[in-house]
Amino acid sequence: MNKNKKISKKDVGKLLSQWSQQFAVFVPSRESGTAMMAEWDGKDTSFTDWYRNTVISARASFSPSAEPMFSFQKDKDGYRIEPPASDGHKQLIFGIRPCDARALSILDLTFKDAYEDPYYLSKRNNTLLIGLGCTNPCDSCFCTSLGISPGESNDVDLMLTDIGDEFLIEGVTEVGKELIAKTSGLGEATEADGTRAREAKEESYHKVKRRIDVKNIDGKLLSCFDNKDYWEKMAAKCISCGICTLLCPTCYCFDINDEMVKKQGTRCRSWDSCAFSIYTKMPMENPREEKWQRVRQKVCHKFEFYPMNFETIACVGCGRCIRLCPVNWDITQTLESLPAEV
Ligand code: SF4
Ligand code: SF4
Repeated sequence: MNKNKKISKKDVGKLLSQWSQQFAVFVPSRESGTAMMAEWDGKDTSFTDWYRNTVISARASFSPSAEPMFSFQKDKDGYRIEPPASDGHKQLIFGIRPCDARALSILDLTFKDAYEDPYYLSKRNNTLLIGLGCTNPCDSCFCTSLGISPGESNDVDLMLTDIGDEFLIEGVTEVGKELIAKTSGLGEATEADGTRAREAKEESYHKVKRRIDVKNIDGKLLSCFDNKDYWEKMAAKCISCGICTLLCPTCYCFDINDEMVKKQGTRCRSWDSCAFSIYTKMPMENPREEKWQRVRQKVCHKFEFYPMNFETIACVGCGRCIRLCPVNWDITQTLESLPAEV
């Protein structure tokens, strides 16, 4: 028996309203001028028409671009520290793409490593992910080369597939299955719906045309690490703007600063980028003064160092760094033109 459910596209608003009773619901939004996940306004479901992927990935919901860590006050006995108020509110992100959901699983490895990051993990533990398969991948997407299917995901709680006028809903995790059980107004998916969903997933998989070969990519990078000529050539047109890293769903560098007026203030952290020449200038010197070293770092961190530490490549092929780079720098060209391993 097919245990999957379905919902008519015109009833997505009712579904989100129902979930809003329990969760702060986030959906793809262009309200701020940039496509990103934003709290649902209780009405608009037009994203089902325009949405391909957000410009700012869902990582911003867990590691925001600027985030207060604690506030402090100085008095005669020294400093008093106040942790940020936590409402413990549960959130639900509707419509996350499989690549961005995988990126969160990759980020978990860093934020749950020797140091467990309470800011990131508290949000992660309080969030349900509702995946929505891609029907129209971008030319710059290459997720399938990284073992990701644009229509499927094990990194979400529920997975939705566009089957025409309806979405098929599959429970992925136990939490997702419980949510389905508690949700009213869903239809029973038929065998024919299941067949249509499988066809849609296959179709979207074959729409991803850009491919790279990642076999032994870490070995190739290791062997050309000191090849300055190669990296200088690859870095020539980069203007070190940092956009590729700030928008990358698996990047996580941050800077910490105190905002203080008289005797009280807030310690904040905000996104930083290894592409910047002033990166780590405050605590010490930037160990990568030249641009080619910084471009090399960006590529090697994802395809050589992260696999060394966590046995997984820290790139999901979302293509943001290609389509949003102001000078059309293309990571797939760099990876495809690596010299043969020596
Ligand atoms: S977005 Fe392009 S120009 Fe900007 S740092 Fe990245 S590669 Fe360089
Ligand atoms: S390196 Fe580029 S393609 Fe890979 S995850 Fe980051 S933004 Fe996406």
